[in-house]
Amino acid sequence: MKVLLVFAHPEPRSLNGALRDIAIKELEAQGHEVRISDLYADRWKSEVNHADFRSRAPDARLKVAKASGEAFATNALTEDVKAEHEKLLWADVLILQFPLWWYSMPAILKGWVDRVYAYGFAYGVGEHSDKYWGNRFGEGTLAGKRAMLLVTTGGWEEHYSARGINGPIDDLLFPINHGILFYPGYDVLPPFVAYRVDRLDEPGFHVVAERLRERMRTLGSMPPIPYRRQNGGDYVIPSLQLRPGLGDPNANGFALHLNGAKAAD
Ligand code: FAD
Repeated sequence: MKVLLVFAHPEPRSLNGALRDIAIKELEAQGHEVRISDLYADRWKSEVNHADFRSRAPDARLKVAKASGEAFATNALTEDVKAEHEKLLWADVLILQFPLWWYSMPAILKGWVDRVYAYGFAYGVGEHSDKYWGNRFGEGTLAGKRAMLLVTTGGWEEHYSARGINGPIDDLLFPINHGILFYPGYDVLPPFVAYRVDRLDEPGFHVVAERLRERMRTLGSMPPIPYRRQNGGDYVIPSLQLRPGLGDPNANGFALHLNGAKAAD
């Protein structure tokens, strides 16, 4: 398989740096081809602004989605964004690796998504009408590929459990897994999370490293998170609400969007 790892940590000698190297080594040992986008090392520009759309009149009002769509359609996106598109289309598997910062991804990675996920590439794909709401959530440019988060946290696993104060980790990562990865078509694998890492000792490091090697060995075979597909019949269009009778009638959270969630009696 071809694997793209997008790495968002400012320090190569960090725990994240060490885990990245372990993941790459294991993937290559399995015969996979690996490429990396090292966002801090590459000084990735994270903000979307006028400089992204130079073919427009410089004083024209910037409407980002429109400018993005026009630039994509006319091959006028910036070279750094085009290079990321080439890598995303090349890869069978995408790994986004980052330390959890303020319950989400570091800003540089969010900025990678904002700029790389162009209109016509990651969104605005397929027919948009009252009867069909685009090729997304299970369909789209990146359908047929797999994606996975590789995350480290300072907080304990219990803090991210069902009753933990931080909220369940699957809820915190839902906007990334569902909203950023499933949206343009990826099959999303359960995240690899290393908890409570700030004072990780040497034996603890080896446990995490071995767990990560094992995950890298199952990248091609592990079943994805069973999110419901937008166009698979589970949602009413155009309200995009889950059909009555599907899921737990009293539930209103993220878990409703998992196939196999408790059906109505
Ligand atoms: P490092 O600091 O590089 O390493 C952590 C420890 O791992 C080291 O002290 C060392 O003991 C060990 N280690 C590192 N490399 C090796 C190696 N090669 N071999 C053996 N041992 C090694 N946490 C949360 O849970 N929720 C949050 O919302 C959150 N927000 C944050 C916001 C900010 C701005 C910051 C700075 C931190 C936040 N944290 C949060 C904590 C953060 O998630 C962790 O600090 C981070 O995940 C640790 O990863 P690192 O790669 O930076 O670790």
